[in-house]
Amino acid sequence: MIDVSFQQDQFEVVPTLVQPALVDVLKTRVKSDMKTSSSPLVLPPVHTLPIHEMLQAQHQSFDPESEDAEAENAFFVADLGEVYRQHLRWKALLPRIEPFFAMKCNPDPMVLRLLASLGVGFDCASKNEIQTVLDLGTVHPNRIIYANPCKQNAFVQYARRNSVMMMTFDNAEELHKIKRFHPDAHLVLRILTDDSKSLCKLGLKFGAPLDTTGYLLATARELGLNVIGVSFHVGSGCFDANAFGEAVVRARRVFDQATEHGYHFRFLDVGGGFPSAHVTDGITFEKVAAILGSTVDALFGPEVRVIAEPGRYYVGSAFTLATQVIARRTIVHDVAAQDKEEEEGKEDKEQPAHMYYINDGMYGSFNCIMFDHQVCEPQVLLKDGAFAYKQEVDGERGMASVWGPTCDSIDCISTRARLPLMETGDWMYFENMGAYTITAASQFNGFRRSEVLYTTTEPEVVLHL
Ligand SMILES: *Cc1c(COP(=O)(O)O)cnc(C)c1O
Repeated sequence: MIDVSFQQDQFEVVPTLVQPALVDVLKTRVKSDMKTSSSPLVLPPVHTLPIHEMLQAQHQSFDPESEDAEAENAFFVADLGEVYRQHLRWKALLPRIEPFFAMKCNPDPMVLRLLASLGVGFDCASKNEIQTVLDLGTVHPNRIIYANPCKQNAFVQYARRNSVMMMTFDNAEELHKIKRFHPDAHLVLRILTDDSKSLCKLGLKFGAPLDTTGYLLATARELGLNVIGVSFHVGSGCFDANAFGEAVVRARRVFDQATEHGYHFRFLDVGGGFPSAHVTDGITFEKVAAILGSTVDALFGPEVRVIAEPGRYYVGSAFTLATQVIARRTIVHDVAAQDKEEEEGKEDKEQPAHMYYINDGMYGSFNCIMFDHQVCEPQVLLKDGAFAYKQEVDGERGMASVWGPTCDSIDCISTRARLPLMETGDWMYFENMGAYTITAASQFNGFRRSEVLYTTTEPEVVLHL
């Protein structure tokens, strides 16, 4: 291969083997990674203001004369008090079940810190997630479950070296891998449950069907592995509270089957899928807790330790995103065609009259629309120089569509939103943006991830940080 480089201000083709150069590049990258992970963490300030004051204060800090082109970027306000309230609610309604936060949902460093100090455990799915939790310095490895049934060899070794013992599996190949790289692990058999009533059907990818669990337990026995219990996940965004009850019944069957294979299970992991606090009708956390708590108590004695892996439950309602309207396009409708449609008796469905472009989108925080099937509703934050957080806004509302800042047409946040007429420079906000948003945001097209500002509406949180 040929490496093309600049030499002494002129183009020159220098034939070299790329391979050694590449190795050097990779080596230096590894070194600089190590440097950043061991540098001391500087914590951001946590305020004690209500959300609307945070939004207002941040906006007022913008200097219109500033030469910083990033000054008016979209931003999040995270209310750590809401995370804390969710924790208290969990403890009140599911006192027997220990929560292990599924950090893929939102690995925000302050959220992790708060949950760690509240004694919550962590569901990690990769080496980096495990490392992030251990780097907090306050979490014992026995408060981590490596809940990914299909793991990279080196990650299993990493778990062993760092004394992370609990891990899930759902296939025989994984058992052989664990035998080789972490033979003393405490294994949890992830079973398949009915996820047809969930938005994100995790059963497509993971979970042992019940007609395979006997074989898996026999294999584990032969390998001399320590299987301690069962886990499941009813699917993320579950909208049927009975799904939890049915899954616990299945888990009971596998507990009984395990006894036939010489195991004595004492561990049940009921997974994630718990609704966030903003879900107030349909399947609420109260309903899930009532069904789950009573089924667990009916089928499992006190000798069984029960954990769960809630993700969106903790953070969904805790983050609010503020975005600026960076451009507006007025759609010129073809009046003649519209008249014709009306003549033909077609339903007069109101067409969007404006397209608003805002400074965060599908490739950023709104990736939840694509990956997590979320519906994000824009609300007016600042219009005509006045703040309107949770207030009625004067003026007639019309149909509009809302778009992200990239050049891709998939980058659409809402095709039909009822909004008053807004101008470039006005702001919109979106509530309940804490789950599966920042965590998968990209920098596609050169747009930065939106930064997070912290407040707490529960003063007690400050003591925990
Ligand atoms: C994603 C995931 C969770 C969290 O799901 P939520 O719906 O956010 O509660 C828990 N456990 C596992 C194994 C997951 O993959």
